[in-house]
Amino acid sequence: KEKLKDDALLKKSLSISKKNWNKEDFNWSKDLKKALKDVFKIDKLRELQLPTINAVMSNEDVILIMPTGGGKSLCYQLPAVISKGITIVVSPLLSLMEDQLYGLQKHNVKARMLSAKCDKENVKIIMNALIDKKSDLKLIYVTPEYMAKSNRFMNKLQKAFEMKRLDRFAIDEVHCCSQWGHDFRPDYKFLGILKSMFPGVPILGLTATAPAKIIVDVQKMLDIQGCLVLRATFNRPNLYYEVRRKPTDKDTCLAMIENLLKNRFKDKSGIIYTTTIKDAEQLTTDLRALGLKVGCYHAMLEADYRSEVYSKWISGKYQAVVATIAFGLGIDKANVRFVIHHCISKSMENFYQESGRAGRDGKKSVSIVLYRLLDIFKLSTMVFQDKVGLQNLYKMLAYCLDQTSCRRSLIATHFEEVWTRTDCAEMCDHCRKPKESKQVNIAPYCRQLYQIMTKAVQSETRLTALKLIDAWYGKGASTLRVSSIPVPKFTRESGESVIGHLLVNGYLQEDFHFSAYSTISYLKRGPKSALALDNSHEIPFNYELH
Ligand code: ADP
Ligand code: MG
Ligand code: ZN
Repeated sequence: KEKLKDDALLKKSLSISKKNWNKEDFNWSKDLKKALKDVFKIDKLRELQLPTINAVMSNEDVILIMPTGGGKSLCYQLPAVISKGITIVVSPLLSLMEDQLYGLQKHNVKARMLSAKCDKENVKIIMNALIDKKSDLKLIYVTPEYMAKSNRFMNKLQKAFEMKRLDRFAIDEVHCCSQWGHDFRPDYKFLGILKSMFPGVPILGLTATAPAKIIVDVQKMLDIQGCLVLRATFNRPNLYYEVRRKPTDKDTCLAMIENLLKNRFKDKSGIIYTTTIKDAEQLTTDLRALGLKVGCYHAMLEADYRSEVYSKWISGKYQAVVATIAFGLGIDKANVRFVIHHCISKSMENFYQESGRAGRDGKKSVSIVLYRLLDIFKLSTMVFQDKVGLQNLYKMLAYCLDQTSCRRSLIATHFEEVWTRTDCAEMCDHCRKPKESKQVNIAPYCRQLYQIMTKAVQSETRLTALKLIDAWYGKGASTLRVSSIPVPKFTRESGESVIGHLLVNGYLQEDFHFSAYSTISYLKRGPKSALALDNSHEIPFNYELH
């Protein structure tokens, strides 16, 4: 029976995806064109916007997967404008809703938002508009929490539904429905009742999260299995991806960034991301001391100060903003030419979004990650309590450790797409200057590191990565060194990469301990240590140890 149901769903899915959603002779095609120009002042639709809007107007359930900044909102705003009734937009964040309302106001589109913060008067207007045939209100933005808690609102929706005024639901950031997502929100579960409560009212789910597993989960949650899924490519052909070793010496690292800003990115605008507020402030001070015009942005600064920094950057008074990831939502600057990661991101997902703030105008732009193993441990102590936090972080580490693969192909895997070197067109460091792949077996080093760890256990000491590397290179406390182990012939940076690779592959693992003020990450043998202890076991690493 289950199988039959799946087959039926598959058939439905295939038949709706075969339909030509790009046609321009639907009943609404003329209105669509007119509203696009007159209301939204947009000349041309972007990839997938027309098929999505057509499917939405045909009352299909649709999930649209499109990178951030791709233009998902228009796919429900435009249908709302050319429809008679009301569109309910479910969105997780008040700030996102406020941005949208502001934008719609500028275009004279009637929209309002409902949240726990809403005053009585506003609530009353919205509740009345729902059941008033003469109302010109087009969109109601609402948080899932509000829907779940407000019986009054759900009752009015029911009435609007009976009056056929309920045109559709748009659910933004729809991946929040799924436990597998990076951003699960329990209140999104409530949305599971919409389909049975309002049969025939179509649902449009929107997200920038791609994995099929999550999309299927979302479909189940919303009871729209087999719906039309439209997926835009995540490839950003105009972004050049580059990874550099971050110099261990702070001044050398500063000089590197100074050089980039004064030469390669001279007169160009960009963002420099750091992990912590302290790093952001320090780096701003240091770069200013070198005569660079940069501003600082993080969550602990006053809102007024932050908007001042933002406008100085928009107007070009600042060449770059040194920021934590708090700098992101709502950035609307098309000519960002570079994004430098002073420290790696906590996941490929984050990296994609952060680097993706460059080159929104389609012109060539650059993403540079400055990578250093020890930075990982700042992040791991921040993310290890999330279900997949460490796994995500190690994927980012693997991206940085890779010395030969096309960066673009590495990013593609993450989005379950396949991009080849041809898609890259030499727009990454490895495609531009291909290196011969050299494989080394690092199992012997792994066993040496285990010996050092055993000795530490015997002397009741825990090893941070730094202490482990020190002991390996004959530095630090002499009690932790093992005299029979030779100091590696390769550089300390290479040694760090060996440790990184062992960590990513489960030969080493982090061991977290809480102190009064912080969490410390120590290294210990990983789940695969039994394998590595066998002298015939090999651990291949595509890396040039030098
Ligand atoms: P997303 O939700 O996919 O991250 P948004 O809907 O917020 O993206 O849109 C990002 C920006 O792109 C907005 O400033 C929007 O006005 C603009 N935009 C959307 N569609 C178009 C288009 N067809 N042409 C030009 N700009 C567009
Ligand atoms: Mg959006
Ligand atoms: Zn490439």
